[in-house]
Amino acid sequence: MNLAYHDILVDLAPDIPGIKGEPENLKDAVTFLKRGTNFYDPEQYNDHISVFFEFFNSIYPYIQKESIKYMTDSADDSIVSLFEKMLSPLRTYHPDIVGFSQLILPQRELIMALAHAVKACDIPVVLGGASLWYNPEAYLSCVNHIDVSDIFDVIVYGEGEIPLKLLIQGEPLENIPSILYNSPPIIKNERECIHNLDEIPCPDFSDFSLRGYYSPEIVLPLLTSRGCYWGKCTFCTHHKSYNIYRSNSTEHVISTIKTLQTRYNASYFLIADEMVHPHRFEQLASTIQKEGLTIRMYSEAKPTNQFTLPRLQNMYAAGVRVLLWGVESGTQRILDLMNKGTTVSEIESVLRHSDTAGIWNMVFMMVHYPTQTVKEIEHDIQFLQKNARYIHTVTCSPFQLQVGSHMYENPEKFGITHIEPADQFSPVCEYSTTHAPESEFPAGSRAISDVPLYPDLPSKDYLSKKYSVECIVLSDISWYFGKMRDHLLLYADFLSDDPL
Ligand code: SF4
Repeated sequence: MNLAYHDILVDLAPDIPGIKGEPENLKDAVTFLKRGTNFYDPEQYNDHISVFFEFFNSIYPYIQKESIKYMTDSADDSIVSLFEKMLSPLRTYHPDIVGFSQLILPQRELIMALAHAVKACDIPVVLGGASLWYNPEAYLSCVNHIDVSDIFDVIVYGEGEIPLKLLIQGEPLENIPSILYNSPPIIKNERECIHNLDEIPCPDFSDFSLRGYYSPEIVLPLLTSRGCYWGKCTFCTHHKSYNIYRSNSTEHVISTIKTLQTRYNASYFLIADEMVHPHRFEQLASTIQKEGLTIRMYSEAKPTNQFTLPRLQNMYAAGVRVLLWGVESGTQRILDLMNKGTTVSEIESVLRHSDTAGIWNMVFMMVHYPTQTVKEIEHDIQFLQKNARYIHTVTCSPFQLQVGSHMYENPEKFGITHIEPADQFSPVCEYSTTHAPESEFPAGSRAISDVPLYPDLPSKDYLSKKYSVECIVLSDISWYFGKMRDHLLLYADFLSDDPL
């Protein structure tokens, strides 16, 4: 449905009122991204991808608002038309059950509206996805005037494979793990996870129009582990989605890659693990070469000294072309506060070695960590500038305090004095801080809110803007690669010594 959503909106774009950007150029932009003969011309790429993002970024708030109105039959004609078109295969196919996956919260309104329409056709609806770890009861209730109490039949709040299989087989709800349903009252069954990931079969993409996606080559996702082997960062809640860390055996990963390559003629893979451990990477890389697989990969990793130059060269030889490093900050005090388990000097040496090995480095940064000072943010920018020659793309995100993080559980350790209760649907909380004692700050630095940097803008906005501009300036070729990681992998391969 994701592809259908985008394709239909591209067709409807010129008729949707009040949307910013160049909707009249959207079709050309999408055609270019799908099959552009000049896809690897950075100037043309950036022109087209910016048209795409300007439209889809500006239309999203409108879709969210209209989705809620759709549930009370008062949405605009263009949205009714969008939904009719998205749901038309359903009317001809008549599935026994429809499942929605809500990976991130902003998908919520659209999913609710679509599920509302599916339910009206008397088809049972199941909701799952990574964001459902937080307060899944809300999806069976009436919250903030949004009544979803009779839309979803079952909510899956853990891993979906086993619950979905049992549901389809008609198992009684009380026997199905990791689900909630409204009996009434709301019943929440025990959560279970799959301990041996090798039991899960190779993903089946045969119902997807893989050639229809917005990329000139097929790029497939590949999950080789669940959870994070580190799991200690003080801001992180990823452990809430996957509970415990588990990984596939090397043999299983290799066999999955071989199957996907043969079935779909795919050679590009986005490894979707939270982080791949350096030792696992070494094993995978060596086996991929031994088996003679010709593939290209993107993955995420934690920049520790275990990523030595020989190891990174081995990974390059196996086809790794891009690594997204969870750098977060170039300031040691902040890294320690985050409990990242990294040092600034090892981050710098990993970036250098990775670049020497021929791998593109994408750097992920975080800004506005509690107690972070203006001087420390400026120091982070200097860190990026200093290492710019080894960095291909930078992306940054503002800190968010989330229910379930170590920081949320121990606010006093981070200078947090007050936390507002979270929204029923979202784990993100508003909070206030006192500044840490002077002695905890590096000499001469002050906490962000002490400094009236710009008369008309709160200092936070000013710094975020400054930081974002730096991220754009420091990103080679395209800043959009931070969002379009399949395109990033294709470019990194195309510009490498031995492109496919
Ligand atoms: S931020 Fe990344 S490395 Fe840290 S615990 Fe979360 S997933 Fe693991």
